[in-house]
Amino acid sequence: MGGGISGYGSAILAQKKGFEVFLSDAGKIADRYKQKLDEWKINYEEGGHTEELILSASEVIKSPGIPEKAPIIQKLREKGIPVISEMEFAFRYLGKAKTICITGSNGKTTTTSLIYKIMHDAGKRVALGGNIGESFAYSVAQGGYDWYVLELSSFQLDGMYDFRADIAVLMNITPDHLDRYDYCFQNYVDSKLRITRNQHSRNYFIYSGDDEVIWREIEKRGPALHMKQLPFAVKSVVASGVGDAFPDGDTGKFTAVVGAKEVNVDTRKMQIKGLHNTYNAMAATLATLAAGVTPAKIRKAIYDFSPVEHRLEPSGEVNGVEWINDSKATNVDSVWYALESMKRPVVWIAGGTDKGNDYEPLKAFAREKVHTLVCMGLDNKKLEESFRGIVPEIISTSSLDEAMKAAAKAAHAGDTVLLSPACASFDLFKNYEERGRLFKQWIQENLL
Ligand code: ADP
Repeated sequence: MGGGISGYGSAILAQKKGFEVFLSDAGKIADRYKQKLDEWKINYEEGGHTEELILSASEVIKSPGIPEKAPIIQKLREKGIPVISEMEFAFRYLGKAKTICITGSNGKTTTTSLIYKIMHDAGKRVALGGNIGESFAYSVAQGGYDWYVLELSSFQLDGMYDFRADIAVLMNITPDHLDRYDYCFQNYVDSKLRITRNQHSRNYFIYSGDDEVIWREIEKRGPALHMKQLPFAVKSVVASGVGDAFPDGDTGKFTAVVGAKEVNVDTRKMQIKGLHNTYNAMAATLATLAAGVTPAKIRKAIYDFSPVEHRLEPSGEVNGVEWINDSKATNVDSVWYALESMKRPVVWIAGGTDKGNDYEPLKAFAREKVHTLVCMGLDNKKLEESFRGIVPEIISTSSLDEAMKAAAKAAHAGDTVLLSPACASFDLFKNYEERGRLFKQWIQENLL
């Protein structure tokens, strides 16, 4: 079910393994995927589901974008037909290859990309997959890899049963996507914890020791967790006999230990900045140490790693004003880390489609660092009301062009203009990527 990147990858792997395959998409399938399906002689349909065909399947692989509530999925459940995720399916054909799986509410893409780079630069035969890069199933169909680094959303984890991560990484858990979890935070938490499912004593579980939600879950599940635990923390002290990552006092360095191996990383030499990126680097260091990469190679790759597009991405410095694209910050927690990492006075561009945000956690940083808030959205009322009396200047705009002009006017030499919206982009843009691209394009065309 679903003819996007995940669906066509699964279809090709299934075809290769000798199944009778049919792919169905309620919407349109992109031409590039249709071409692949034709090449592999896979039957498919688009613009609707042929129910009788689907309900005669022995197993269904569901793309993560299709909600559990979709009528066709409900019908499959009623008939007792197994519905699994691409990860679950591809896992059956891994052979001797191993997986490093990354999940969390924020930091997944950055940490996944960093782990992939360290593994790749160290000469491992490694593929990137999940929510990022090529699909996992497609890479498995191609073969030739010893390691798969997978970014997993809670939706993918929901469809995983026998899957086992050799190395699991859980960055943090903060409320997100509650609309798909019956507005129950615990359901979402349980979904994230599925990353530890089936792990045994030779596997690793890397998690944030600063995250209370994770902590509580580990305490609750204690004896049921048999794997080796590797916490990383900046604020708390977490005991683990196997290994961990902690800062070395106030030196800006941290040490990560796994068994007898140790890496020392100087965060000031990293190109990715801020406390959140210290967490991401700690997690990546632990994961790759556990995977057997040498300390020197880990350090070099971490220092070489540049920010992923749309994540606190430096987008130009003009007349002493630095412009930063953090369009991917679509929730309050990621903006918290963006503001936390700001070293200069800030003109902050925010707004868009509000997902039921509570702006309270941002107010202290806003008061301390932001002198102008430029609201960019079709409905800016909530944002304006939340920061009135906290940020001296608030400007309401309803297009990117208007917002950029207002920001350019408000910024003085020595300031940073930060696009970190805390909201989805769908009122004015196709997606966060388009918002980020247009932000950078505006700078190119109007300032440089
Ligand atoms: P994800 O893939 O989980 O959405 P990204 O790496 O794409 O995560 O980052 C999304 C946003 O969250 C960015 O705005 C980034 O600055 C912020 N962020 C990155 N890492 C973390 C972290 N460890 N904790 C909180 N926020 C983070």
